[in-house]
Amino acid sequence: MKYISTRGQSPELNFEQAMLSGLARDGGLYVPAEWPQMSKPEIAALAGLSYEDVAFRVMKPFIGDTFSVDEFRGILKRAYAGFHHSARVPLAQISSNDYLLELHHGPTLAFKDVAMQLIGQMFEASLKRSGKRVTIVGATSGDTGSAAIDAFKGLDSVDVIILYPHGRVSEVQRRQMTTPTESNVHALAMDGDFDDCQARLKDMFNDFEFREAVQLAGVNSINWARVMAQVVYFFTSAVSLGAPHRKVSFTVPTGNFGDIFAAYVAKRMGLPIDRLVIATNQNDILHRTLQAGEHLKKGVTPSISPSMDIQVSSNFERLLFDLYDREGSAVTQLMDELGAGGFNLSQGALAKLRSEFDSGNCSETETSAEISEMLAQTGELLCPHSAVATKVAKDQRGDPSVPMVALATAHAAKFPDAVESATGIRPALPPHMAGLFERPERVTRVANDLEALKAVILERSRI
Ligand SMILES: *Cc1c(COP(=O)(O)O)cnc(C)c1O
Repeated sequence: MKYISTRGQSPELNFEQAMLSGLARDGGLYVPAEWPQMSKPEIAALAGLSYEDVAFRVMKPFIGDTFSVDEFRGILKRAYAGFHHSARVPLAQISSNDYLLELHHGPTLAFKDVAMQLIGQMFEASLKRSGKRVTIVGATSGDTGSAAIDAFKGLDSVDVIILYPHGRVSEVQRRQMTTPTESNVHALAMDGDFDDCQARLKDMFNDFEFREAVQLAGVNSINWARVMAQVVYFFTSAVSLGAPHRKVSFTVPTGNFGDIFAAYVAKRMGLPIDRLVIATNQNDILHRTLQAGEHLKKGVTPSISPSMDIQVSSNFERLLFDLYDREGSAVTQLMDELGAGGFNLSQGALAKLRSEFDSGNCSETETSAEISEMLAQTGELLCPHSAVATKVAKDQRGDPSVPMVALATAHAAKFPDAVESATGIRPALPPHMAGLFERPERVTRVANDLEALKAVILERSRI
C-alpha cells in the first residue's frame, strides 16, 4: 500500500515511512492511495475470531509487507496483552437494540490505548531493525499523552515528550503523564489550550532543521497508524451484531475526528454501516459544519469532557480530501482559509458530508443528566465523553431495527469529579492503577513559545 498526502505535494511513502514520519512535509496528512476492500464473505469470516485475529485481517492490507506475518502477529499479541478484558473491547447491551462499545479496558483507561499500544510495538520492531532512534513529540488534551507515555516508556529507541495544556486535564490524566519514572518519558505543561499545543507541534514538524535534528516523530491522531488501528473495533463490534448480513449504526464522541474517521474507513472498506453519528460536546464545530455548511472556528470553552475540547479537528482534513475528490490543491486552499478562521464547504462536498454522517451536540447540563440517567436505567457508570455519545445516539436514533452502538471512550474513574457531581458516586480506579495518587510527579512548565519548546526538547532528546 502506498500513502499519499492530503495536500498532494509530498512524495508517496510506504506504511513504515508514513508511520514513522507522522505529518507530511507539505503540511498534509498521509492517507492510503486507495481503500482496501473486504468482501461480504471475508467480513462474515471474522465472526468468532479473537480481537487479535480480526486486527490482523483488517490491518494487513494497510501495512503491506512492512512486517512479516509472524512479526505482525507477535506485535498484535504484545500490544493487547496489557488489556484488562479478554475480549479487549467488549460490547455491552444497554437496551433492546442499543449497545455500548467499551474501549477503556487498556492500561490508561481510554480508547487511545487501542492504537497507542499497537504503535508502541510497531515503532519498536521497526526501529530495532534499522538501528535508528526517534524523538516522539505529542500534543494531548489528556488521553493521548497518557496512552503514549504508557506505550513507549522504557523503550530504548525512543524519547517521548508530551505537551498538555496546563490546568486543563483531569488529575488522573495528569498523574498518568507525570508519575512514570522511566527516564525516556517527559511531560510538559504548556500555557494555553489544546489547540495551542497542537499548533506548536505542527510548527515543530514544519521546522525541517529541528525535525532532522531530533528525528521528530508524531503519534497524534495525525499519524495514519493510529486511525488504522481504530478501524478494527468497528469490524469486531458490527460482526458480533450480525454484519455483514445486517447493517449497524455507530455514534462516536468526537474531538479530533480520528475515531469517527476510522469508522468512515471501515465503511469505505465494505462494512455495512447504516448511520455514522458525530457526537460533540459544547465545542461543536463539527456539528455546526454539518448543519450550516461552514467550518468556522470559535474559541474553545472548557467542558467536563475535556478530551473533546477541540476546534481544529486535525483528521477532518482526511475527510475533506475525499469530499473534494482527492484534490490536494483544494484541501490546501481550505486549510489556508481555516488558518484565517474558517471556510464554506462547496455544495457538492456538503452533500457528500451529509450523506455519510449525521451529528448532534450535547451541553454540559445534558451530559451530567445523561450520566445519572444511564446509571439509573442501565447500571452503567459512564465517563462524560461516553455520555455525550449515548445522549446524541438517543437524539439521532433513527430506524429502531438497526442496532446502534455508542462508543464508551474512557473509564468513569478517569473523570471522577464530573461523574461524582452528576451521580454522587465517586468512581474508583481499577486495582491495576492503585497508588496513582501517592506517586511523586515530574513535569516541566513551558510557555506557549516555539523557541522555548524546541530548547527543552533538544535538551531531553537523546539523539
Ligand atoms: C480523544 C478522545 C475522544 C475524541 O476522539 P477523537 O479521535 O479525537 O475524535 C473522545 N473521548 C475520549 C475519552 C478521548 O480520549
